[in-house]
Amino acid sequence: MATDMNPKQAFCLRPSRRHSFLSRFLLFSLVLVLTLLGTRLRHYDALTIFWPAEAVLLGLFLRRPDWGRQVLNWTIVVVAYLCAELIAGNPLPIALLLTVADASGLGLAYWLITHNPLLDLSLRRPQAMLTLAAYCSLACVVSALLGGLALYLHTSQPLSLAILSWMLTGMISYAAILPVILTAPSRPLRRFLEYWNEPHLTSLAQLAPALLLLLTSLLSLLIDGPGSMAFPVLPLLWCALSYSLFSTTLLTLFYVLWTLFALNPPVYFLPSQLHTSLDLLSLRIGIASIALACITCASLMSARNLAVEKLQRLAHRDALTGLLNKQAFYQQSQDALTQCRLKHIPVSVIVLDIDHFKPINDTHGHHVGDLALSAITQRISLALRDTDLCGRLGGEEFGILLPDCGAAQAHTVAERVRKSIALLPFSLDNQQQLTMTASLGVATLEPSTLDLHALLRQADKALYEAKRAGRDQSFSYPFPEPQTGT
Ligand code: GH3
Ligand code: MG
Ligand code: MG
Repeated sequence: MATDMNPKQAFCLRPSRRHSFLSRFLLFSLVLVLTLLGTRLRHYDALTIFWPAEAVLLGLFLRRPDWGRQVLNWTIVVVAYLCAELIAGNPLPIALLLTVADASGLGLAYWLITHNPLLDLSLRRPQAMLTLAAYCSLACVVSALLGGLALYLHTSQPLSLAILSWMLTGMISYAAILPVILTAPSRPLRRFLEYWNEPHLTSLAQLAPALLLLLTSLLSLLIDGPGSMAFPVLPLLWCALSYSLFSTTLLTLFYVLWTLFALNPPVYFLPSQLHTSLDLLSLRIGIASIALACITCASLMSARNLAVEKLQRLAHRDALTGLLNKQAFYQQSQDALTQCRLKHIPVSVIVLDIDHFKPINDTHGHHVGDLALSAITQRISLALRDTDLCGRLGGEEFGILLPDCGAAQAHTVAERVRKSIALLPFSLDNQQQLTMTASLGVATLEPSTLDLHALLRQADKALYEAKRAGRDQSFSYPFPEPQTGT
C-alpha cells in the first residue's frame, strides 16, 4: 500500500542547487516592487490600505526554506526595503526606521513560525490558520510600534491611530496573501496544463459557489451600508465547503481586495475624511476576521477530506498487500461484471492460491511469510492490466477479475501470472532465496452464469482440480482442460 507523503516534503518546494546571482536579483526586485506598490497605496493621513511585501516574502521563505536560511537573502531584503523607502521620498532617518519596522515584523513572524515544528504550513489542520494568524499578529504589533513611531514623527498622524492602522494593514495583508502562497500547488503551471489537457466537464453546479460570490460582490456595490461587506460571506463559506483549499484562498484574496478597493472607494480615495473616525480600522478588522474564518473552514474541510480518504483506503484495502480486500473486491467486481454483461463483452475471473504456503511460515517464520505474500502480490500486479481488478480473498488466496477477456485469453493471463511466480526465486529479507509456486482456477462468464459468486465458485472448482493434479498449474472451468505447467 502506498505510504503517505511527509507533509513537510509535499509542502516545501524543491530547493535549488545554488543561489544564482539572477535569483538574488529577482528577490531584490520583488521586494522593491512590492514595497513601492505598498507605498503607492500609502496616504499618510490614513496610512497604506494594503501592504503585500511581508506576506509574499514570508510565504516565499516558508515555501523555500533554503532561501529563508540564507543571511545574504535577508540582507538583500533589508537593502531593498531601504531603497524603496528612499525612492518613495522619505528622508533617510524615517526610511531607516520604516525599514527596521518592516524587517523586524517579517523576521519575527518567520522565527515564530519556523520554531513551531507542529504547525502544519500546508494549512491542512483546522488550527493551523489561527495559529499562523496569532504569530503574524504578534509580528504586526512589533512592526507597528516602530512603523507607527516613524509615521508619528513624519506626519500629522496621532501615534495611537498610526500604530493601530499599521498593525491592521499588516494583519489583513498576511491573512489574504499568506494562505494563497502556502497552499499553492508545487508546480502550478504544470498542474494547470495537466488539468487543461484532461477531458473534463465543468458543470454550472460546480461553478455555482464562485458565481454567487461574484454576484454578491457586485450586489454589495449596489446596496450600500455597513452590512454590505458581509454579503459575500455565505458564498465564500460555500466555496470553502466545495472547492480545494488553494481555490478558496484565492477567492478569499479576491474578496479582501474587492472589499478594500472596490466596495468602498471613499475609504481609499478620500482617506483624509477618515482619520477622524475609526471606520477604516473597523473595516479592516471585519475583513480580516471574515477571511480568517473562511480559510479556517476550508482547512477544516481539507482535513476532513483527507481523513475520509484515509478511512476509505483503510476500509477497501488489505493492510499487508495493499490489494483490494475481500469485500471491496466483491463489490467492484460485481459492478464490473454488470457493466460487461450490459455491453455484451466477455469477462473472466481467476482464483489463485499459493502452493504449500504453510511450510514457508513453519520453516522461516511468519515475518518471512508476510514478505512472501507482498512479493507475490507485486508479481501478480505486474502481470495484469490497469483495468483488471485484484483482491486478497483471504490468507494466501487471491481473486482476479479480467474485464473484456474471453476464456482463451484468460487462460493465457493465468499462465503468465503462474510463470511470473514460479520461474524466478524470491529474494526476501535480503538473504533468503525462496522458490514459490501457485495454482490457478479460471472461469469465464456465460449467459447462464447467475452472478459473481457463481463465477467464483466455478473458478474455485478449477483451482481445486489444479491442486489435485499436482499444483503449479492453471485449470479452466469447465473440465477437463488440464494445462500442465512448464
Ligand atoms: P496448499 O498448497 O494446499 O494451498 O497448501 P497451503 O499450505 O498453502 O495451504 P493451507 O491452507 O494449509 O495453509 C495456508 C497458510 O497460509 C496457513 C496460514 O498460516 C498462512 N497464512 C494465511 N494468512 C497469512 C498471513 O497473513 N501471513 C502469513 N505469514 N501467513 C498466512
Ligand atoms: Mg495454499
Ligand atoms: Mg489457501
